[in-house]
Amino acid sequence: MTQSLYTRYMTKGELLDHARPFYEENEVLELEHAIDMATKFHKGQKRKSGEPYIIHPLAVATTLIDWGMDIDSVIAGVLHDTVEDTDMTLEELESKFGKDVAFLVDGVTKVSQARAGMQDLAEYLPQTKDNLSKLLIAIGQDVRVIIIKLADRLHNLQTLQHMPREKQTKIARESLEVFAPMADRLGMGRVRMEIEELAFSYLDPAEFKHLQNTMRKRLGKSTRKLGIVREEVDRALTAQGVPHEINGRVKSIYSLHKKLLKVDGNIDDIYDLMALRVIVETKEDCYRVLGILHALYQPMVARIKDYIAVPKPNGYQSLHTTVLTPAKQIVEFQIRTYEMHEYAERGLAASFHYHEQKSSKDYTKGKKSAVLPSHMQWITQLQEIATKLRSGEEIPESQLSIDLFGDRIFVYSPKGDIYNLPEGAFPLDFSYLVHSDIGKHSYGFRVNGSIHPFDKPLQNGDVVEVITRKTAAPKATWQELVITTHARAKLRAQLRKVGAIESISHAAGIIREKTRRKRGSKAEEPAS
Ligand code: MN
Repeated sequence: MTQSLYTRYMTKGELLDHARPFYEENEVLELEHAIDMATKFHKGQKRKSGEPYIIHPLAVATTLIDWGMDIDSVIAGVLHDTVEDTDMTLEELESKFGKDVAFLVDGVTKVSQARAGMQDLAEYLPQTKDNLSKLLIAIGQDVRVIIIKLADRLHNLQTLQHMPREKQTKIARESLEVFAPMADRLGMGRVRMEIEELAFSYLDPAEFKHLQNTMRKRLGKSTRKLGIVREEVDRALTAQGVPHEINGRVKSIYSLHKKLLKVDGNIDDIYDLMALRVIVETKEDCYRVLGILHALYQPMVARIKDYIAVPKPNGYQSLHTTVLTPAKQIVEFQIRTYEMHEYAERGLAASFHYHEQKSSKDYTKGKKSAVLPSHMQWITQLQEIATKLRSGEEIPESQLSIDLFGDRIFVYSPKGDIYNLPEGAFPLDFSYLVHSDIGKHSYGFRVNGSIHPFDKPLQNGDVVEVITRKTAAPKATWQELVITTHARAKLRAQLRKVGAIESISHAAGIIREKTRRKRGSKAEEPAS
């Protein structure tokens, strides 16, 4: 971990000093100009904490410098809330700071508006109805927009304690549902983790504390044992002449929470609470390390993963293996080069690094395929579509579903809150995602205003209303009507509580219900 979790408070002078080593002198002058302008326009505005508003854009800019973003992004970070929240106009901004900065600030403003469900983008997009598409288009213009938005969201989460409880929950949930997956999609592993940890600590503070304690107890026991393994590996690699670095990596609280849902809450089934990370210089060395480890310990064959030969869709690369030591300890290893490590932490932001400003300029001029790794071509694709849309070209709806979120869909509550679900999710998955009590008392659903059966999957952009009744209770048959691990785990716990899972009559009920549903659902099958 290279950065502190919380952005520190910076004054204008501190921020300029922070920036100086990384940017040209004229760029720092421009930054100073932007800070003065933002300070003037935000004058008199206060954050919920009572502090002057300007600390927020300065914190966002600090983060963008830490992420190694180019100067235009940093300046846009300073100015990101001026057009939306002050008297500053986009025209004025453009005349003072140029087209690129104005373009970025405009993009950030539009992302907020798309989220708020406003119609501003409709002029470009007569043929797309849903907010998600608008969001995608706003991002598609320039991926730096979303990186600035992530820095903005991170600071809002870091200062969330000042918000009223209801707002906290809303922001935290939206962060988990929309912004963390977005960071993940851009390969920004560290940012994703920071967003998840903060958001989860607000969404379920009791569970967060509980898992934190559990983790602490567990780690105390295993750290010493792991230390022995680490020394052993260190010696073996040195003996074989492989230059390396070994670090311990502790699982994040949120990923522990997600994993526990999968293994029915049994922490003994989780092998990677703590993993060892071996960082080497070359790809060849990664495979050599794998061989050396497998000669030392017994590999658990099913757990070997080669993300170097086949990177994850977001560009993540590493070798993963889990081994059994002679002391019967199960240890996970992640093996990667320094370059892969840098990418795993910083993702796409790494390609805007100040050392590579030239290539980031090429990128914005549309030569992105020259600098974007091949697995990032979806960004190029997105930009091409955005360009076509802006020029008024007709685009079939199917082409708009760019794989930004993999096979995820977005649905809305009647209040307009966005929820992110896997494709094929049922209405009950939605109710359990909103709250396990709402899941439990689900009686019926209204989707886009019409009654919607339990067994019909939701579609992207649906507005879902859960009809609850106090008397409604979870049924064993519901297990067939959820696909998310979250809903399944909550439902199973509820069923176990009322003793509904083991009962034979219920099993018979499932079969009966299934046959009935098969017959009944034919007529309701969507035409697609
Ligand atoms: Mn902001």
